[in-house]
Amino acid sequence: MSSYPSDRTRIRRSPERAKYDQETLYQIIDAAYLCHIAFYDGTSTHCIPTACWRSGEHLYIHGSTGGRLMKLLSKGVEVSVAITHLDGLVLARSAFNHSMNYRSAVIYGQFEQVLLRRINRRH
Ligand SMILES: Cc1cc2nc3c(=O)[nH]c(=O)nc-3n(C[C@H](O)[C@H](O)[C@H](O)COP(=O)(O)OP(=O)(O)OC[C@H]3O[C@@H](n4cnc5c(N)ncnc54)[C@H](O)[C@@H]3O)c2cc1C
Repeated sequence: MSSYPSDRTRIRRSPERAKYDQETLYQIIDAAYLCHIAFYDGTSTHCIPTACWRSGEHLYIHGSTGGRLMKLLSKGVEVSVAITHLDGLVLARSAFNHSMNYRSAVIYGQFEQVLLRRINRRH
């Protein structure tokens, strides 16, 4: 994974606050229970929240094979995945100076289908 941004991922607003290294990205992903997946289904654009986790270089999500999200993603549609952690509210004397401390990542790519076999254990 490159530590340099592409034209698509380069932060343009307050760029001095951006980090592109793998360790920072993994810390943000590993601290997350959920992500928001944005995709275009050919007619309209959706943004769906779902549980996520990381193993190695792969981001995993779980979903029913009968659901629209999983059916589309298994076809390899392009997605944008957003993960956000709100760490603090910065309250100022004037409303315009209020702010938020946060860590966030926006990840671009495609998902692949991983089928898990259900194992029925006898006790
Ligand atoms: C909790 C929270 C609150 C925010 N509140 C505000 C607000 O009130 N007003 C405001 O203007 N902005 C806010 N932001 C920042 C906002 O997400 C955008 O980064 C910002 O508006 C710049 O948008 P842009 O379209 O110009 O991005 P660009 O700089 O054009 O984005 C270029 C690329 O940078 C990456 N990127 C952009 N934003 C983020 C991000 N937040 N995290 C990770 N990667 C990113 C993406 O890959 C994107 O394609 C907030 C973010 C968070 C997480």
